[in-house]
Amino acid sequence: MMKGVNREPGDPNYDLYQLALESTSKRLYPNYANVDWSGNAGYDVNDPKTYFSTMGCRTVNGLDINAEPGVNPQTKDGRGNICPVTIILPTIAMQAKEFCHTLWDVNIDERDYIDTFMTLLDQMIHDAKDMLIERFNWICSQDPSSAKFMWENGLMSGYHKDEGIRSAMKHGTIVIGQLGLAECLQILIGCDQTTEKGMQLAKRIEQLFKDRCAEFKRLYKLNFGVYYTPAENLCYTALKKFREKYGIIENVSDHDFFTNSMHVPVWHHCSPFEKIDIESQLTGYSNAGCITYVELDASVIHNIKALEQIVNYAMDKDIPYFAINTPNDHCLDCGYTGEINDSCPICGSKNIQQLRRVTGYLTGDYKSAFNLGKQDEVHHRIKHTGERTQ
Ligand SMILES: [Zn+2]
Repeated sequence: MMKGVNREPGDPNYDLYQLALESTSKRLYPNYANVDWSGNAGYDVNDPKTYFSTMGCRTVNGLDINAEPGVNPQTKDGRGNICPVTIILPTIAMQAKEFCHTLWDVNIDERDYIDTFMTLLDQMIHDAKDMLIERFNWICSQDPSSAKFMWENGLMSGYHKDEGIRSAMKHGTIVIGQLGLAECLQILIGCDQTTEKGMQLAKRIEQLFKDRCAEFKRLYKLNFGVYYTPAENLCYTALKKFREKYGIIENVSDHDFFTNSMHVPVWHHCSPFEKIDIESQLTGYSNAGCITYVELDASVIHNIKALEQIVNYAMDKDIPYFAINTPNDHCLDCGYTGEINDSCPICGSKNIQQLRRVTGYLTGDYKSAFNLGKQDEVHHRIKHTGERTQ
Protein backbone atom coordinates (compact mmCIF):
# COMPACT_ATOMS: atom_id res chain seq x y z
CA MET A 1 0.00 0.00 0.00
CA MET A 2 1.41 3.36 -1.00
CA LYS A 3 -0.12 6.82 -1.06
CA GLY A 4 -0.34 8.17 -4.60
CA VAL A 5 0.04 4.68 -6.05
CA ASN A 6 -2.94 2.54 -5.03
CA ARG A 7 -4.68 4.08 -2.02
CA GLU A 8 -7.37 6.31 -3.57
CA PRO A 9 -9.70 6.16 -6.57
CA GLY A 10 -7.76 7.84 -9.37
CA ASP A 11 -4.36 6.49 -8.21
CA PRO A 12 -2.65 4.59 -11.04
CA ASN A 13 -2.87 1.17 -9.34
CA TYR A 14 -6.15 1.58 -7.48
CA ASP A 15 -7.63 -1.15 -9.68
CA LEU A 16 -5.02 -3.61 -8.37
CA TYR A 17 -5.96 -2.71 -4.79
CA GLN A 18 -9.58 -3.58 -5.59
CA LEU A 19 -8.54 -6.95 -7.01
CA ALA A 20 -6.33 -7.56 -3.98
CA LEU A 21 -9.28 -6.93 -1.65
CA GLU A 22 -11.45 -9.36 -3.60
CA SER A 23 -8.71 -11.97 -3.41
CA THR A 24 -8.28 -11.41 0.35
CA SER A 25 -12.01 -11.86 0.91
CA LYS A 26 -11.92 -15.28 -0.77
CA ARG A 27 -8.42 -16.61 -0.13
CA LEU A 28 -7.01 -14.56 2.83
CA TYR A 29 -4.16 -13.28 0.66
CA PRO A 30 -2.58 -10.87 -0.05
CA ASN A 31 -1.60 -9.19 3.21
CA TYR A 32 -1.07 -5.44 3.21
CA ALA A 33 2.44 -4.00 3.63
CA ASN A 34 2.50 -0.31 4.42
CA VAL A 35 5.16 1.45 2.33
CA ASP A 36 4.24 4.73 4.05
CA TRP A 37 5.03 3.23 7.48
CA SER A 38 6.92 5.77 9.64
CA GLY A 39 9.33 3.04 10.81
CA ASN A 40 10.79 2.80 7.31
CA ALA A 41 11.75 6.49 7.15
CA GLY A 42 14.76 7.20 4.97
CA TYR A 43 13.68 4.90 2.14
CA ASP A 44 14.11 6.11 -1.43
CA VAL A 45 10.85 6.57 -3.31
CA ASN A 46 12.74 5.95 -6.57
CA ASP A 47 14.27 2.67 -5.36
CA PRO A 48 11.81 -0.18 -4.71
CA LYS A 49 14.62 -2.19 -3.07
CA THR A 50 14.24 0.15 -0.09
CA TYR A 51 10.45 -0.12 0.17
CA PHE A 52 9.00 -1.70 3.29
CA SER A 53 8.62 -5.41 2.68
CA THR A 54 8.46 -8.56 4.78
CA MET A 55 10.02 -11.99 4.48
CA GLY A 56 7.30 -14.64 4.56
CA CYS A 57 5.25 -14.31 7.68
CA ARG A 58 6.41 -11.04 9.27
CA THR A 59 10.17 -10.52 9.59
CA VAL A 60 11.57 -7.21 8.38
CA ASN A 61 15.02 -5.71 7.82
CA GLY A 62 15.40 -2.25 9.33
CA LEU A 63 18.18 0.29 8.92
CA ASP A 64 21.45 -1.50 8.11
CA ILE A 65 24.21 -0.29 10.42
CA ASN A 66 26.77 -1.94 8.11
CA ALA A 67 25.49 -0.47 4.84
CA GLU A 68 28.27 -0.08 2.28
CA PRO A 69 29.14 3.50 1.27
CA GLY A 70 26.65 4.70 -1.31
CA VAL A 71 24.04 2.05 -0.45
CA ASN A 72 20.79 3.21 1.17
CA PRO A 73 20.73 1.64 4.68
CA GLN A 74 17.01 0.89 4.21
CA THR A 75 17.78 -1.52 1.37
CA LYS A 76 15.90 -4.79 1.88
CA ASP A 77 17.13 -6.89 -1.03
CA GLY A 78 20.07 -9.19 -0.37
CA ARG A 79 19.51 -9.25 3.38
CA GLY A 80 17.69 -11.52 5.77
CA ASN A 81 16.79 -12.38 9.32
CA ILE A 82 19.79 -14.37 10.57
CA CYS A 83 18.49 -15.69 13.90
CA PRO A 84 15.90 -15.00 16.61
CA VAL A 85 15.72 -15.58 20.35
CA THR A 86 12.32 -15.34 22.01
CA ILE A 87 11.70 -14.30 25.61
CA ILE A 88 8.70 -15.94 27.29
CA LEU A 89 7.27 -12.98 29.19
CA PRO A 90 4.73 -14.78 31.45
CA THR A 91 7.47 -16.97 32.93
CA ILE A 92 9.55 -13.92 33.86
CA ALA A 93 6.48 -12.31 35.40
CA MET A 94 5.99 -15.38 37.62
CA GLN A 95 9.68 -15.40 38.55
CA ALA A 96 9.40 -11.74 39.54
CA LYS A 97 6.40 -12.46 41.76
CA GLU A 98 8.12 -15.44 43.39
CA PHE A 99 11.23 -13.37 43.98
CA CYS A 100 9.22 -10.66 45.77
CA HIS A 101 7.53 -13.24 48.01
CA THR A 102 10.87 -14.86 48.90
CA LEU A 103 12.34 -11.55 50.00
CA TRP A 104 9.37 -9.99 51.72
CA ASP A 105 6.38 -11.51 53.49
CA VAL A 106 4.10 -8.50 53.73
CA ASN A 107 3.38 -5.19 52.11
CA ILE A 108 4.17 -6.38 48.59
CA ASP A 109 2.35 -4.33 46.01
CA GLU A 110 2.11 -4.15 42.24
CA ARG A 111 4.98 -1.73 42.04
CA ASP A 112 7.32 -4.30 43.61
CA TYR A 113 6.23 -6.88 41.04
CA ILE A 114 6.73 -4.45 38.18
CA ASP A 115 10.14 -3.19 39.32
CA THR A 116 11.40 -6.72 39.91
CA PHE A 117 10.00 -7.82 36.56
CA MET A 118 11.69 -4.98 34.70
CA THR A 119 15.04 -5.87 36.30
CA LEU A 120 14.67 -9.56 35.42
CA LEU A 121 13.52 -8.72 31.89
CA ASP A 122 16.52 -6.49 31.38
CA GLN A 123 18.83 -9.34 32.44
CA MET A 124 16.99 -11.67 30.07
CA ILE A 125 17.32 -9.23 27.18
CA HIS A 126 21.08 -9.13 27.85
CA ASP A 127 21.19 -12.96 27.93
CA ALA A 128 19.30 -13.02 24.62
CA LYS A 129 21.86 -10.63 23.16
CA ASP A 130 24.73 -12.91 24.26
CA MET A 131 22.98 -15.95 22.78
CA LEU A 132 22.45 -14.14 19.49
CA ILE A 133 26.08 -13.03 19.24
CA GLU A 134 27.26 -16.57 19.93
CA ARG A 135 24.93 -17.96 17.25
CA PHE A 136 25.84 -15.22 14.81
CA ASN A 137 29.57 -15.95 15.24
CA TRP A 138 28.95 -19.67 14.87
CA ILE A 139 27.01 -19.13 11.65
CA CYS A 140 29.77 -16.84 10.38
CA SER A 141 32.39 -19.51 11.10
CA GLN A 142 30.88 -21.84 8.49
CA ASP A 143 32.78 -22.49 5.30
CA PRO A 144 31.52 -20.26 2.46
CA SER A 145 31.27 -23.32 0.21
CA SER A 146 28.44 -24.69 2.40
CA ALA A 147 25.98 -22.28 0.79
CA LYS A 148 27.72 -20.97 -2.27
CA PHE A 149 24.51 -20.08 -4.12
CA MET A 150 23.68 -17.52 -1.41
CA TRP A 151 26.76 -15.41 -2.10
CA GLU A 152 26.92 -15.91 -5.83
CA ASN A 153 23.32 -15.02 -6.61
CA GLY A 154 22.83 -11.98 -4.41
CA LEU A 155 20.52 -13.76 -1.96
CA MET A 156 22.83 -12.42 0.71
CA SER A 157 24.73 -9.54 -0.82
CA GLY A 158 28.04 -7.91 0.17
CA TYR A 159 30.17 -11.07 0.24
CA HIS A 160 33.93 -10.45 0.13
CA LYS A 161 36.19 -13.48 -0.19
CA ASP A 162 38.89 -12.19 2.17
CA GLU A 163 36.41 -11.33 4.94
CA GLY A 164 34.45 -14.60 4.84
CA ILE A 165 30.69 -14.93 5.02
CA ARG A 166 30.50 -12.43 7.86
CA SER A 167 30.87 -9.76 5.17
CA ALA A 168 27.40 -10.70 3.89
CA MET A 169 25.82 -11.83 7.16
CA LYS A 170 26.53 -8.54 8.95
CA HIS A 171 23.85 -6.85 6.80
CA GLY A 172 21.23 -9.25 8.12
CA THR A 173 19.14 -8.83 11.25
CA ILE A 174 19.44 -10.62 14.59
CA VAL A 175 16.34 -10.28 16.67
CA ILE A 176 15.06 -10.41 20.23
CA GLY A 177 11.51 -11.69 20.21
CA GLN A 178 8.76 -12.01 22.76
CA LEU A 179 5.77 -14.19 23.59
CA GLY A 180 2.68 -13.62 25.75
CA LEU A 181 2.67 -9.92 26.62
CA ALA A 182 -1.06 -10.15 27.45
CA GLU A 183 -0.59 -12.99 29.94
CA CYS A 184 2.48 -11.30 31.43
CA LEU A 185 0.44 -8.16 32.16
CA GLN A 186 -2.34 -10.27 33.69
CA ILE A 187 0.16 -11.81 36.11
CA LEU A 188 1.70 -8.48 37.10
CA ILE A 189 -1.33 -6.18 37.32
CA GLY A 190 -4.44 -8.27 36.64
CA CYS A 191 -5.35 -6.69 33.30
CA ASP A 192 -3.88 -6.67 29.79
CA GLN A 193 -3.12 -4.07 27.12
CA THR A 194 -6.79 -3.76 26.18
CA THR A 195 -7.10 -1.52 29.27
CA GLU A 196 -5.44 1.85 29.75
CA LYS A 197 -3.48 0.64 32.75
CA GLY A 198 -2.28 -2.45 30.91
CA MET A 199 -1.29 -0.40 27.87
CA GLN A 200 0.82 1.90 30.02
CA LEU A 201 2.90 -0.98 31.33
CA ALA A 202 2.97 -2.62 27.88
CA LYS A 203 4.60 0.51 26.47
CA ARG A 204 7.15 0.57 29.27
CA ILE A 205 8.08 -3.05 28.53
CA GLU A 206 8.32 -2.48 24.77
CA GLN A 207 10.38 0.65 25.31
CA LEU A 208 12.96 -1.42 27.19
CA PHE A 209 13.18 -3.90 24.28
CA LYS A 210 13.53 -1.01 21.84
CA ASP A 211 16.15 0.92 23.84
CA ARG A 212 18.28 -2.16 24.48
CA CYS A 213 18.23 -3.28 20.85
CA ALA A 214 19.23 0.22 19.71
CA GLU A 215 22.06 0.21 22.25
CA PHE A 216 23.31 -3.27 21.22
CA LYS A 217 23.15 -2.24 17.58
CA ARG A 218 25.50 0.69 18.17
CA LEU A 219 27.77 -1.19 20.56
CA TYR A 220 28.27 -4.39 18.54
CA LYS A 221 27.70 -2.95 15.06
CA LEU A 222 25.17 -5.68 14.33
CA ASN A 223 21.54 -5.19 13.30
CA PHE A 224 19.75 -6.05 16.53
CA GLY A 225 15.99 -5.63 16.30
CA VAL A 226 12.76 -6.01 18.28
CA TYR A 227 10.72 -8.90 16.91
CA TYR A 228 7.09 -9.78 17.60
CA THR A 229 7.62 -13.54 17.34
CA PRO A 230 5.14 -15.84 15.55
CA ALA A 231 5.99 -18.69 18.00
CA GLU A 232 4.27 -21.44 15.98
CA ASN A 233 5.37 -24.21 18.36
CA LEU A 234 6.66 -22.19 21.29
CA CYS A 235 3.18 -20.83 22.11
CA TYR A 236 2.26 -24.38 23.12
CA THR A 237 5.52 -25.86 24.46
CA ALA A 238 6.14 -22.78 26.64
CA LEU A 239 2.59 -22.96 27.99
CA LYS A 240 2.95 -26.66 28.85
CA LYS A 241 6.14 -26.05 30.82
CA PHE A 242 4.59 -23.03 32.52
CA ARG A 243 1.54 -25.04 33.57
CA GLU A 244 3.63 -27.90 34.94
CA LYS A 245 5.30 -25.41 37.24
CA TYR A 246 2.56 -22.90 38.08
CA GLY A 247 -0.68 -24.76 37.33
CA ILE A 248 -3.77 -23.20 35.82
CA ILE A 249 -4.11 -19.46 36.38
CA GLU A 250 -7.16 -17.63 35.08
CA ASN A 251 -6.53 -15.57 31.92
CA VAL A 252 -2.92 -16.77 31.96
CA SER A 253 -2.66 -20.54 31.59
CA ASP A 254 -6.28 -21.61 31.20
CA HIS A 255 -5.87 -21.89 27.42
CA ASP A 256 -3.50 -24.26 25.63
CA PHE A 257 -1.35 -21.46 24.23
CA PHE A 258 0.29 -18.17 25.11
CA THR A 259 -0.87 -15.17 23.10
CA ASN A 260 1.27 -14.28 20.11
CA SER A 261 3.77 -11.47 20.85
CA MET A 262 1.94 -8.24 21.86
CA HIS A 263 -1.34 -9.26 20.18
CA VAL A 264 -4.69 -8.58 21.76
CA PRO A 265 -5.83 -11.97 23.14
CA VAL A 266 -7.86 -13.81 20.50
CA TRP A 267 -10.81 -14.19 22.89
CA HIS A 268 -11.13 -10.44 23.49
CA HIS A 269 -14.35 -8.97 22.03
CA CYS A 270 -13.77 -5.85 19.97
CA SER A 271 -14.38 -4.35 16.54
CA PRO A 272 -11.69 -4.48 13.83
CA PHE A 273 -11.13 -0.76 14.43
CA GLU A 274 -10.65 -1.22 18.18
CA LYS A 275 -8.19 -4.07 17.55
CA ILE A 276 -6.20 -1.79 15.23
CA ASP A 277 -6.37 1.08 17.75
CA ILE A 278 -4.85 -1.10 20.47
CA GLU A 279 -2.13 -2.88 18.49
CA SER A 280 -1.09 0.22 16.54
CA GLN A 281 0.09 1.71 19.84
CA LEU A 282 2.67 -1.08 20.12
CA THR A 283 3.74 -1.91 16.55
CA GLY A 284 6.05 1.12 16.43
CA TYR A 285 8.37 -0.44 19.03
CA SER A 286 9.24 -3.27 16.65
CA ASN A 287 11.65 -2.70 13.78
CA ALA A 288 12.28 -6.35 12.92
CA GLY A 289 8.79 -7.58 12.19
CA CYS A 290 5.24 -7.68 13.46
CA ILE A 291 1.79 -8.32 12.05
CA THR A 292 -1.70 -7.23 12.99
CA TYR A 293 -4.65 -9.48 12.19
CA VAL A 294 -8.37 -9.01 12.28
CA GLU A 295 -10.85 -11.85 12.10
CA LEU A 296 -13.88 -11.40 9.85
CA ASP A 297 -16.69 -13.71 8.84
CA ALA A 298 -17.25 -15.16 5.38
CA SER A 299 -19.85 -12.51 4.49
CA VAL A 300 -17.03 -10.05 3.77
CA ILE A 301 -16.97 -11.50 0.25
CA HIS A 302 -20.11 -9.44 -0.37
CA ASN A 303 -18.75 -6.27 1.20
CA ILE A 304 -15.44 -5.29 -0.39
CA LYS A 305 -16.04 -1.62 0.51
CA ALA A 306 -16.06 -2.51 4.22
CA LEU A 307 -12.86 -4.46 3.76
CA GLU A 308 -11.26 -1.49 2.04
CA GLN A 309 -12.29 0.76 4.92
CA ILE A 310 -10.63 -1.58 7.42
CA VAL A 311 -7.38 -1.85 5.44
CA ASN A 312 -7.25 1.93 4.95
CA TYR A 313 -7.86 2.46 8.65
CA ALA A 314 -4.93 0.17 9.52
CA MET A 315 -2.64 1.99 7.08
CA ASP A 316 -3.68 5.39 8.45
CA LYS A 317 -2.96 4.13 11.99
CA ASP A 318 0.62 3.40 10.84
CA ILE A 319 0.28 -0.39 11.08
CA PRO A 320 3.30 -1.73 9.15
CA TYR A 321 1.87 -5.09 8.14
CA PHE A 322 -1.80 -6.01 8.14
CA ALA A 323 -3.71 -9.20 7.43
CA ILE A 324 -7.30 -10.35 7.45
CA ASN A 325 -8.56 -13.77 8.39
CA THR A 326 -11.80 -15.14 7.03
CA PRO A 327 -12.98 -18.74 7.32
CA ASN A 328 -12.06 -20.74 4.28
CA ASP A 329 -13.55 -24.23 4.28
CA HIS A 330 -13.66 -26.40 1.23
CA CYS A 331 -15.97 -29.31 0.48
CA LEU A 332 -13.77 -31.99 -1.06
CA ASP A 333 -16.80 -33.65 -2.68
CA CYS A 334 -18.69 -30.84 -4.44
CA GLY A 335 -16.12 -28.03 -4.32
CA TYR A 336 -18.20 -25.54 -2.26
CA THR A 337 -16.01 -22.95 -0.50
CA GLY A 338 -17.05 -20.77 2.45
CA GLU A 339 -17.67 -21.27 6.14
CA ILE A 340 -18.75 -24.85 6.79
CA ASN A 341 -19.62 -26.03 10.27
CA ASP A 342 -20.36 -29.78 10.45
CA SER A 343 -21.31 -30.65 6.92
CA CYS A 344 -21.42 -29.04 3.48
CA PRO A 345 -24.55 -26.85 3.08
CA ILE A 346 -24.75 -27.85 -0.61
CA CYS A 347 -24.20 -31.61 -0.73
CA GLY A 348 -24.18 -32.56 2.96
CA SER A 349 -20.73 -34.13 2.76
CA LYS A 350 -18.59 -34.30 5.88
CA ASN A 351 -15.44 -34.53 3.77
CA ILE A 352 -14.35 -30.96 4.54
CA GLN A 353 -10.95 -29.34 4.44
CA GLN A 354 -10.72 -26.49 6.95
CA LEU A 355 -8.17 -23.93 5.90
CA ARG A 356 -7.13 -21.39 8.54
CA ARG A 357 -4.23 -19.06 8.71
CA VAL A 358 -2.71 -20.36 11.90
CA THR A 359 0.43 -18.26 11.93
CA GLY A 360 1.65 -16.39 8.87
CA TYR A 361 1.07 -19.20 6.45
CA LEU A 362 -1.80 -21.15 5.05
CA THR A 363 -1.50 -24.87 5.50
CA GLY A 364 -3.72 -27.78 4.61
CA ASP A 365 -6.28 -28.81 7.19
CA TYR A 366 -5.14 -26.97 10.32
CA LYS A 367 -6.46 -29.70 12.61
CA SER A 368 -3.84 -32.13 11.34
CA ALA A 369 -1.07 -29.65 10.50
CA PHE A 370 -0.77 -27.80 13.81
CA ASN A 371 -0.15 -28.61 17.44
CA LEU A 372 -2.91 -28.67 20.05
CA GLY A 373 -1.94 -25.22 21.33
CA LYS A 374 -2.44 -23.56 17.98
CA GLN A 375 -5.66 -25.49 17.37
CA ASP A 376 -6.95 -24.25 20.71
CA GLU A 377 -5.96 -20.71 19.76
CA VAL A 378 -7.94 -20.92 16.53
CA HIS A 379 -10.88 -22.30 18.50
CA HIS A 380 -10.85 -19.32 20.87
CA ARG A 381 -10.60 -16.67 18.16
CA ILE A 382 -13.44 -14.19 18.35
CA LYS A 383 -14.48 -12.57 15.10
CA HIS A 384 -14.10 -8.83 15.35
CA THR A 385 -17.70 -8.58 14.36
CA GLY A 386 -18.74 -10.11 17.67
CA GLU A 387 -19.10 -13.86 17.20
CA ARG A 388 -16.84 -16.83 17.64
CA THR A 389 -14.76 -17.89 14.64
CA GLN A 390 -15.43 -21.58 15.14
ZN1 LIG B 1 -20.31 -30.26 -0.80
